[in-house]
Amino acid sequence: MCPVTQKSNMSQTKYIFVTGGVTSSLGKGIIAASLAKLLQSRGYKTTIQKLDPYINVDPGTLNPYEHGECYVTEDGAETDLDLGHYERFLNVRTSQANNVTTGRIYQSVIEKERRGEFLGKTVQVVPHITNEIKERVQLLGNSGDYDIVITEIGGTVGDIESLPYIEAVRQMLWEMGDNNAIVIHLTLVPYLSAAGELKTKPTQHSVKTLMESGIKADILVCRTEHHISDEIKDKLALFCNVKREAVIQSIDASTIYDVPILMQAEGLDTVTLKKLNLPDEIEPDLSHWKEFLKRHKNPKDEVTIGLIGKYVELQDSYKSILESFIHAGAANEVKVKVKSIHSEYINDQNYQAKLEGLDGILVAPGFGERGIEGKIQAVRFAREAGIPFLGICLGMQMAVIEYARNVLGLTDASSTEMDENTGNPVISLMEEQKTVTNKGGTMRLGAWDCELLDGSLVQKVYGGAKQIKERHRHRYEFNNKYKERLEKAGLIASGINRVTNLVEIVELRHHPWFIGVQYHPEYKSTVANPHPLFIGFVKAALAHKKA
Ligand code: GLN
Repeated sequence: MCPVTQKSNMSQTKYIFVTGGVTSSLGKGIIAASLAKLLQSRGYKTTIQKLDPYINVDPGTLNPYEHGECYVTEDGAETDLDLGHYERFLNVRTSQANNVTTGRIYQSVIEKERRGEFLGKTVQVVPHITNEIKERVQLLGNSGDYDIVITEIGGTVGDIESLPYIEAVRQMLWEMGDNNAIVIHLTLVPYLSAAGELKTKPTQHSVKTLMESGIKADILVCRTEHHISDEIKDKLALFCNVKREAVIQSIDASTIYDVPILMQAEGLDTVTLKKLNLPDEIEPDLSHWKEFLKRHKNPKDEVTIGLIGKYVELQDSYKSILESFIHAGAANEVKVKVKSIHSEYINDQNYQAKLEGLDGILVAPGFGERGIEGKIQAVRFAREAGIPFLGICLGMQMAVIEYARNVLGLTDASSTEMDENTGNPVISLMEEQKTVTNKGGTMRLGAWDCELLDGSLVQKVYGGAKQIKERHRHRYEFNNKYKERLEKAGLIASGINRVTNLVEIVELRHHPWFIGVQYHPEYKSTVANPHPLFIGFVKAALAHKKA
């Protein structure tokens, strides 16, 4: 993954802060990623950072029902799912520095206090917490790697939790001066159907709230379900004290991948560059992006993939997997219909009814015991019926358990995560993990090397590669004590980390397409680089459908 053609003769990094008003869930992350895409495609080296106002040190300890998926970066940071959007849009890697929470800020300030670094001073929100926030923002800018840093402030202005961030932004705007740092405020312009009107008042109020903290919005991005007329734009400009050209409509789109195109049409990139006093004569080169959209919107065929998981009620829980299917679908010119199936409700009575008609089965990652028997049923069905199967992390572990139980006849085979005293722990903890007591940041995380077995299916899928590097997030591992027996019976370890000797990939010898991976391929799929495993899986599903 590397940035597209970049120029970098800018002497000073410019900063864009994105705040949100009126409600949450307006899609700040998508707007930030879309703007970054437009700036990147004009040649500006751009990165995005997310500041989250909660007290968890990172989202790694959060249940997916709280904030959706936990996204993992190459350097092993457990981060907000918006970082996934940044990587998918920009095809540039993010890192720990791209996601900071209030918990992390306080942890670091308190550690400094314990080391005596504040020299006897009273440690306070202003200036100590705000200084720490400012340092974290400027860390990316000072790296010299970027022309523009976009910082998205989580939450909504006016929230108690956001106050220190907003104050830090105010100070940075003051210190950096006009044209070096700007604020884009994202708000909602609701439509009242009884009145048949779009309403600007909530936006006026949220801009006012921002003003009370000493911040004047430079650009307004207005989320709306209906077209915002020129008249309303005039009104918003006048009452919110922004230039007319700086009122940007962000209307609901059929896909998030349309948003950069819509923002370009609205002139978000041009007005941003103008405010930052940066040249705008190079038109964005979005040819590859548009080609992807064309393929995405004009599929020649369709496949249905069953996503077997236990967090299926919340789409955000499997965000990166769903997006990977969009990338892989476009690559194959196939529409991928993902049917979410709750693993808790699959049993040996109903599995056929629940799983029939699927062209491919994906067993999702997860933690804990709930729903695992349903996942094992789904693996068995895919294995016996010759349906293309992809198991990710827990999904791979379930494939190993299923094979041990139903083929090797080890009926009590399990993972020690679910059954500590199982007689056949085919999935178990590594020695190093046995003494770990803290939950946060202690799993096997980030990118690890994996050597692919010559002549394996997975090697073919990866285009003949010998070595790959993929991102992990788990505690339990394939138990090598069972490797020989499983391999003899037909479940092959086709990817191994040579340093640790850990099995990273398993595949079935006598099956059209059956792969389980201990890592998360979905974190690395981008619009520019769809992931080979997803491309291969969708292709196999299509072949299965046609056969
Ligand atoms: N719960 C399993 C483990 O910790 C799998 C984790 C996952 O699917 N990400 O090993």
